[in-house]
Amino acid sequence: MSKTSPTLTTCPYCGVGCGVAATLDELGQVTVKGDKSHPANEGRMCSKGTALGDTVYLQERLLYPEIAGEQVSWDQALDTVAGEFGRIVREHGPDAIAFYVSGQLLTEDYYVANKLMKGFIGSGNIDTNSRLCMSSAVAAYKRAFGEDIVPCCYDDLERAKMIVLTGSNTAWCHPVLYQRIVKARKCNPDLFVVLIDPRRTQTANVADLHLGIKPGRDAVLFNGLLNYLDEAGENNEIFSSNFTTGMEEALAAAKDSAPSIKAAAKSCQLPVEDVHEFYRMFARTERVVTVFSQGTNQSSSGVDKANSLINCHLFTGRIGRPGMGPFSLTGQPNAMGGREVGGLANQLAAHMELENPEHTDRVQRFWDSPVIARKSGAKAVDLFRNIADGKIKAVWIMATNPVVSLPEADKVRAALEQCELVVVSDCVRETDTVKLGHVRLPALAWGEQDGTVTNSERCISRQRAFLPVPGQARSDWWIITEVAKRMGFADHFDFNDPVDIFREHAALSGFENNGQRAFNISGLETLSYDEYDTLKPVRWPVTAAAPNGTDRLYGNGKFSTADGKARFIPITPRNPVSQPTSEYPYVLNTGRVRDHWHTITRTGMSPRLSSHTFEPYVEIHPEDAAREEVVDGGLACVESAHGHVFVRVRVSDSQQTGSLFVPMHWSGQFSSQGRIGALIKSVVDPVSGQPESKHSTAKISKCKANWHGFILSRRSSLDLQYSTYWVRSRGKGLWRYEIAGLEQPEDWAARARSLLGLPNGQTDWAEFFDTSQNHYRAAQFKGSRLESCIFIGPTEMLPPRDWLISLFQEDKLDRKARASLLSGTPLIDQEDTGRIVCACFNVGEKTISRSIHEQKLKTPEDIGACLQAGTNCGSCIPELRELLAAR
Ligand code: SF4
Repeated sequence: MSKTSPTLTTCPYCGVGCGVAATLDELGQVTVKGDKSHPANEGRMCSKGTALGDTVYLQERLLYPEIAGEQVSWDQALDTVAGEFGRIVREHGPDAIAFYVSGQLLTEDYYVANKLMKGFIGSGNIDTNSRLCMSSAVAAYKRAFGEDIVPCCYDDLERAKMIVLTGSNTAWCHPVLYQRIVKARKCNPDLFVVLIDPRRTQTANVADLHLGIKPGRDAVLFNGLLNYLDEAGENNEIFSSNFTTGMEEALAAAKDSAPSIKAAAKSCQLPVEDVHEFYRMFARTERVVTVFSQGTNQSSSGVDKANSLINCHLFTGRIGRPGMGPFSLTGQPNAMGGREVGGLANQLAAHMELENPEHTDRVQRFWDSPVIARKSGAKAVDLFRNIADGKIKAVWIMATNPVVSLPEADKVRAALEQCELVVVSDCVRETDTVKLGHVRLPALAWGEQDGTVTNSERCISRQRAFLPVPGQARSDWWIITEVAKRMGFADHFDFNDPVDIFREHAALSGFENNGQRAFNISGLETLSYDEYDTLKPVRWPVTAAAPNGTDRLYGNGKFSTADGKARFIPITPRNPVSQPTSEYPYVLNTGRVRDHWHTITRTGMSPRLSSHTFEPYVEIHPEDAAREEVVDGGLACVESAHGHVFVRVRVSDSQQTGSLFVPMHWSGQFSSQGRIGALIKSVVDPVSGQPESKHSTAKISKCKANWHGFILSRRSSLDLQYSTYWVRSRGKGLWRYEIAGLEQPEDWAARARSLLGLPNGQTDWAEFFDTSQNHYRAAQFKGSRLESCIFIGPTEMLPPRDWLISLFQEDKLDRKARASLLSGTPLIDQEDTGRIVCACFNVGEKTISRSIHEQKLKTPEDIGACLQAGTNCGSCIPELRELLAAR
């Protein structure tokens, strides 16, 4: 089979921003490989990126514009949106409209959305889901440097002698950077890695020292470090006296809250010798990179936490030089692009300030706009509160799913249900949010759209189209500019191609800049169509003086503040707002799993990604599990003052006592009660507005289901009304449903048929009811092929699913195989592989454990040689290490 040549584009998932080479063959199959020429990954990939080809199909796409659920023409949809927005602005003012956008948008989309809202509608009410991800890092950089600047680049991870990973499960959330750190350690055995995280995550595999800190104590730990550095005489006096201000105040605050190693260790509930080791290594190592991510940012004091670690880098002058600096990793593929164009409600475009008259005047002149917003708009949490209060009467939600991802998510849903006008543009038809849209606009997806994204290290890369445009879907920038034109701003939104927008964005970055703003990509403002098309990844700033980009910033000691000096910020650590009570005794933490992304709309299309973690779960320490009488593999109800979820229990001593962890991904599309956002209290950082998603409080109890079961079926929709608990995930050619219920049906056979939507008297239906054990099993065949099977019993002890899933790959099941199916026991030659660990080669946990035992395998490399597991993207290597350790 001949293939078309690969298209070089960028992965749409995390902020690492890996370059990928995507190939579409003549059968419409897409294969994706790492782009060896891309500086972010140099050919590496993780499991999510490798499986991108599984996610480009159209089954669940929104393909036509709709109003009130009816297909309409683009003209009707766009006229309606523009007309209604215009009316609402006339009747209630510009602040009655809001846009809620996304780090999934391309920079060009983001730019025109921000321009329309701030420069033409005249409101600051545009915020982004990046608010939930890294807005605390943005605010901390601005406080310290005068501008939102990440001074480091990924190469610094290889050049460092010490890497501090704080609030970052890098192994799962930024897997290619984790791979780079693992490789750096191999090349440099002296590299010292510290992990600061209340959980012992998979990232601990690469760490020499894991500090399992008490949740919320990060600022105390870094204040203690600053104090230690001072007492150890580690101040870089030339740097701090010439290039910084405010050091004495910061030192005084540090001494106040963490006067000694012992005090810091006590406050953080860490062993004194571990804290001392961390401080000692930091003090004596010049080349230190401190990587921070959502564990730092998603806090009511996230900005202070970030500034507490930045202070340590300023004190030692470790910034802007190879192998050192405070390095925020963004969660989303284009969170950084959103920061460039002012996608946050308190920013203007091109790193200018909304509440700075000089900046607003400058941007208004550049845009030649009739109005300009001069005050910050509502940040994400407040934006939806304002919808609930009726202050905002129309909202346009682009490429994001706030009904799942925002705190107090049930209130967000209620707010949208009563909002006068909800416009959604998305590529997926049935998300929890899209369902609530009065007007639904079909957007292009990855592989179809064209533009740029910027990753965590300021590297601008192209996303290129290699798939045909499906249905009537259109790019987000086209949809936004068409609405703008219909609102009367045609002359200012007359863009024909993403490059037209990119050039304007680049020109604005250089407009009256005079070296005042480090974000400057004016070197790209004259790109031709061809040059844009072939643009190679480049780290900004890109200027006439630096036409090939810039690896690091601030190495010359000249910062973006008015006086050119960086600012120490005195930090007085604050406790998280929600503290455990007798009613809600646990700290509830949330985060990601390895193979899912955001609300699963894309990764849920991939059977191999869905097989790694197919259900939402709660991780709990063994002592807490025993006290609460919840068992590993059982179901539990986790409940806060705002809502509850039903999730599977994972008992693990990698979790601290008194803490629970639940992943953030599950939505109403994939689970009955798995939206953890519904439990999170809407508490935000007062500076950044970022919600405290890592520290709510909750209680846990056993879910007293009377029956448990599962269904494997080629059918995608089943009648699950009798299941108190259900979760669905995609397998190869089938759907897997885990189910459980409170009530006991009188007739299991009738219930099973109704679940599967089968009429009574269905032929090709085999069933088995063990009345003594109360086990019911049935299978439906189509010809000789298995169509569906259902297993129900009084407890969670049910047959292995992975073996049964493999039977769906058989064209013919003989009598023996059918009998073994109903008995729930694999035939001797049928192997139960267990939960999939290596998604690339479909290798299960039981297969790996058996091989470790039988073949006496000792290293991940041994496992790779024997089973291939871990030899492609490497995302499963931390789990291979855990399985080796368990043996
Ligand atoms: Fe995509 Fe994985 Fe790279 Fe992130 S690390 S950009 S998810 S391939």
